[in-house]
Amino acid sequence: MFFDTHTHLEDKKFKEDFKDVMESIRESDTSLILNVGFNRQHITDSLAISKAYDFVYSSVGLHPSDSLEAQDDSYYEMLYDYTKEPKVVAIGETGLDYYWDRAPRDHQKKVFINQIHLAKELRMPLIIHDRDAHGDILEIVKKEKAGVNGGVFHAFSGSLEMAQEVIKEGFHVSVGGVITFQNAKKLVQIVKEIPLEHLLLETDSPYLTPHPFRGKRNDPTKVKYVAEKIAEIKGLSVTEVAEQTMKNGKELFSIEN
Ligand SMILES: [Zn+2]
Repeated sequence: MFFDTHTHLEDKKFKEDFKDVMESIRESDTSLILNVGFNRQHITDSLAISKAYDFVYSSVGLHPSDSLEAQDDSYYEMLYDYTKEPKVVAIGETGLDYYWDRAPRDHQKKVFINQIHLAKELRMPLIIHDRDAHGDILEIVKKEKAGVNGGVFHAFSGSLEMAQEVIKEGFHVSVGGVITFQNAKKLVQIVKEIPLEHLLLETDSPYLTPHPFRGKRNDPTKVKYVAEKIAEIKGLSVTEVAEQTMKNGKELFSIEN
């Protein structure tokens, strides 16, 4: 019923009880998952999960905070090769992170642009991570026409105006547990204004756990709390939110089953 479009099941926080977590997902209303790979090690681990579980798909990219892993073309050649795997459906997550600033900003930009070029060459959608870098991301996305094959701004944290601009550029806006937080006024306004056709659900688990589980580990079964909150904000049923966001996600990532 629900499509969790951004999760990290390969994270070490799931190591100890991984099989139990996967069983609890299988028994839950979360029927589809996109597990996001963001560096060499995490891509390898993510692909192993999507091979083992029919309801899990993968993406391959390089997170801005890990972008020093790409020093030459070999990283992008590796990504290119991985996109030939049947369950790899997107490039990312990629983008800019000026909050942690773990790599020089010029290098982050170069690595981001290289992944945009790869996605365009392969006609694949992009998964974008934007933390405290709204202006530069928007400038690059527009200049590069990064949204020609669609994509998503995950855990969207920009303004309503920015949401409207990224939609115009061909992107979806993805919303996670933050929407359930007391101080999420800006995001609530965005969800109210943006048509459901442009929204996606995510958990970003094990991070960004929704209320009332804040402080605990997040997992894909909790995406329903995000859907419930969106339904409440938009005056829709949870089923309507689940069905439309499932359709949005399947179309964007070309998932047929
Ligand atoms: Zn992520």
